[in-house]
Amino acid sequence: MKTVVDRLRTERTLPVEELRALLTHCDAETLEYINRQAREVAQAHFGNNVYIRGLIEVSNCCRNDCYYCGIRKSNRKVARYRLSKESILGCCEEGYQLGFRTFVMQGGEDAAFSDEQLLEIVEAIRSRYPDCAITLSLGEKSRQTYERLFRAGANRYLLRHETYNAAHYEQLHPGKMSWENRIQCLRTLKEIGFQTGTGIMVGSPGQTIEHLIADVQFIEELQPQMIGIGPFLPHHDTPFATMPAGNMERTLLLLSIFRLMHPTALIPSTTALATLAPGGRERGILAGANVVMPNLSPREERKKYELYNNKASLGAEAAEGLQLLDKQLAAIGYRISKDRGDFNP
Ligand code: SAM
Repeated sequence: MKTVVDRLRTERTLPVEELRALLTHCDAETLEYINRQAREVAQAHFGNNVYIRGLIEVSNCCRNDCYYCGIRKSNRKVARYRLSKESILGCCEEGYQLGFRTFVMQGGEDAAFSDEQLLEIVEAIRSRYPDCAITLSLGEKSRQTYERLFRAGANRYLLRHETYNAAHYEQLHPGKMSWENRIQCLRTLKEIGFQTGTGIMVGSPGQTIEHLIADVQFIEELQPQMIGIGPFLPHHDTPFATMPAGNMERTLLLLSIFRLMHPTALIPSTTALATLAPGGRERGILAGANVVMPNLSPREERKKYELYNNKASLGAEAAEGLQLLDKQLAAIGYRISKDRGDFNP
């Protein structure tokens, strides 16, 4: 299997049979090997730097009913919240003082957040923090809205495609949601000029090796600037409550595959990976990730943005825990970079 990994590293692509073999037969030794190759490639481009992004969870209200997600519309047990403009700007100020130069506004698809309100918020962040990047992760919107947000000063947009297989998409989402629209949104975001991120949950219910191959191929075709890979984790109040969590090894394997195929992409070591097992965040970095997204949301709301059971939001996962994060990264030979960390091909 090492020759397959070597080929992936030099050619940045694999024939489908070899990709299938790697996904199917990756033993502990191969995983160790591909993680090391991916780490070397990340280090060649980013040194020992890990970029930080301040995550502001702006609303847990959502019109969608994704079967896996804890803040889905049908979950009546969620205490819903929506941050005000002042509160979001307060998070940015706190983040700026801590050294963050990217703010990520993420939330459910909250119809009560009108385009006008969002534009006002983006414009305010842009004028107060001209040196910072603004990333949005607010789901599917019209081309016109995406364009207005881009013109208002947003630079990046995260929208995981979740799965490139339309039938699998239907297993994860109710019929109202459209796989075609999700994929089209990603193409639109790229066309507009957003640094665009997509990705998947590893081990989502019903996911097969063939689905993963299609995901890898789609991402190869789309060439996003950011790739978000984390394990699926069940949430107790969703239809997938009893489904098994995604597996650490497979998540690390995919992370390394994406790093070898997309050497300069921005790839986070996700909160879900940190939640899956102790040391998960560090293992993600050692498998080729180069971004972490500490939580800048107001402390009193953090628990309410519970996408899955026991979602980490404290300690090194919290923006105010940067020193702890720095210490954990130092222990594996890395350091926090406070640069804005734009995509650089
Ligand atoms: N509404 C926006 C969207 O759809 O892109 C952004 C918020 S959504 C909660 C962000 C991401 O959380 C999703 O793309 C999904 O991959 C991830 N997520 C949701 N539930 C999850 C779960 N149970 N386990 C792991 N990741 C989950």
